[in-house]
Amino acid sequence: MSNARKVHVKSFGCQMNVYDSHRMADTLAPEGFVETATPEDADLVILNTCHIREKAVDKVYSEIGRIRVMKDEAAAQGRQMLIAVAGCVAQAEGQEIVRRAQAVDLVVGSQNYHKLPGMIARARDGERVVDTEFPVEDKFDALAAPKREEIRKRGLTAFVTVQEGCDKFCTFCVVPYTRGAEVSRPVEKIAAEVERLASAGVREITLIGQNVNAYHGLDAAGRTASLAALCRRLSAIEGIARIRYTTSHPRDMDDELIAAHGDLPTLMPYVHLPVQSGSDRILDAMNRRHTAAHYLDIVARMRAARPDLAFTSDFIVGFPGETEDDFQDTLRLVEAVGFAGAYTFAYSVRPGTPAAELADQVPEDVKIDRLHRLQALIAAQQRAFNASFVGKTLDILLEKPGRLSGQLVGKSPYLQTVQVMAPPDRIGSIVPLAIVDIGTNTLFGALPSSSPPPEGGRSTAKRSGGGEGNEDHPTPAPAAPTLPLQGRVKEGVAGAEN
Ligand code: SAM
Ligand code: SF4
Repeated sequence: MSNARKVHVKSFGCQMNVYDSHRMADTLAPEGFVETATPEDADLVILNTCHIREKAVDKVYSEIGRIRVMKDEAAAQGRQMLIAVAGCVAQAEGQEIVRRAQAVDLVVGSQNYHKLPGMIARARDGERVVDTEFPVEDKFDALAAPKREEIRKRGLTAFVTVQEGCDKFCTFCVVPYTRGAEVSRPVEKIAAEVERLASAGVREITLIGQNVNAYHGLDAAGRTASLAALCRRLSAIEGIARIRYTTSHPRDMDDELIAAHGDLPTLMPYVHLPVQSGSDRILDAMNRRHTAAHYLDIVARMRAARPDLAFTSDFIVGFPGETEDDFQDTLRLVEAVGFAGAYTFAYSVRPGTPAAELADQVPEDVKIDRLHRLQALIAAQQRAFNASFVGKTLDILLEKPGRLSGQLVGKSPYLQTVQVMAPPDRIGSIVPLAIVDIGTNTLFGALPSSSPPPEGGRSTAKRSGGGEGNEDHPTPAPAAPTLPLQGRVKEGVAGAEN
C-alpha cells in the first residue's frame, strides 16, 4: 500500500455528480489510487463540476485557484499533483478551461470517465489532456464497479444513475447541451448494480436521472420498461427496504408511477417534482409544456394514491418577463400545494440558451426580493410540515453515528434527518421512533421504550467527532429491540430540503 497514490474528488451540484464521483474513484482504484478526504496530500484532485448557474461556474474557477496553491507547494516539495476538471463545466467549456486556468492538467467530459486512467498517464508525462467527446460506447459498461469495502464506507444509502441527459430543452437550462440526449440504462444492468449494493449492506437506493421519470430502459425480455416497472423490479431485491427517485418532470408523471406510490411499500412517500413557476405565461416561455393547473392535478392524483405524499420542488424567480402578477401566481401555487421544502433560484443567464437572448431581463434587486418572499413562504410550510410529526411515530433508517456520543442519525420516509440516542448496533435497521421535538432542519426522536434519558442529558453529552448531526439534541436512551423492517408510516406528511 506504500506506493498507493491518493485521489481527492470534490463534487459540485447535483446527486448525479456525487454518483459520477464515486464511479471515477472506483475506476481509479485498480490503478492504485486510494481516496483521500483532503486535497492537500492528493496526487490527483478531481473537481466534478456543475454548470447550471453562473455562480456554480465561478465557484469552480475559484476552487481551481485554491488547489493551484497546494499544487505549487507540492511541486516545491518535489511531488507531482495533477488537477482534473470533470462534469458539466468540463463538457461545456473544454479547451477554454486549460486556456483560462494554467494549473489544470486534464479536462474530462461527463461521458468519458472510463478513459481517466489513460488520460492521467498522459498528463503525468506533461501533456495537457482534454476529452469532451460523446463516445458511442456506454460509459456505464466501461466504469469499474465499487469494491464491497468501498460500498460499506459510503454508507447504507446509495445513488444509482438509471437515466442520463434531457430532451426537454427548457429555455433557461444548459443540461440538454452539457449532458446530451436522454439515455436509459437497461433494467437488468441496474438490478445487478443494486444487488451488489444490497449484498454489501445498502438498504436505501435513490434512482437518479436528469429526467428520471422519463426512464425507458429495456427489460430482460427486450421490452421498454417504465420507472414504475423498474421500481417494482428493484423492490424484489433482498435487503432493499426503500426506493426513492429524483429528479422527475411533471410531464412524465404517468398513471403507472402514480399507482406505484399507492401500492409499492418500498417506494418512499416523498417526491421532488420541480414546477419552476406558477404562472402559465412564464411556464410557456420556459418551454415547460405544462400549466399550473396540470401540476396541481398531478399533485392531487398522487395524493389520492398516497395521502401522506410529501412534495418538494424547484422554483426559478425573475425569469425574463416575469411580472409581480406572475410571481403572485407562483405564491398561489405554493399555497395550494403545501410543500415540505424547495430549492429556490434567482434566474441566472446561461449563454447559449434561448432565454439568455430575451430582452426583458428582470433586475437583480427585483429577483432577490421575490426570492426572499418565496423562501419565507416555503420555510413556513417546511416548519409546519416538520412540526406536524411531533407526537407521532415514524420509521427511521438509522444510518450513522451523530455528533454526540451515543447519538445516531437517520432518515424518515420523508427524507427528514432524525437524531436519536441509540446504541451503534442499531445502525442499518429501520426503527419506529416517537418524534419528540423539531429543530431547524432536524427531527428529534426517541425509541418507544420506558428507559430514562441518558444521565445528564445535553450537558454531559460528549462530541464524538466522527459522525454527523445538524443540531445537538440528546434524546432518551435506547432499550427496545430492533424491530423488523417497515416500509411506510401511516400518518403525517413531510420532507425537508431547501
Ligand atoms: N430536470 C429537472 C427539472 O426538470 O426541473 C431539474 C434539473 S436542474 C439540474 C435543477 C434546477 O436548477 C432546475 O429545476 C431549475 O430550478 C434550476 N435551474 C436550471 N437552470 C437555471 C437557470 N438558468 N437559472 C436559475 N436556475 C436554474
Ligand atoms: Fe433542464 Fe428542463 Fe431538462 Fe430539467 S427538464 S434538465 S430543467 S431542460
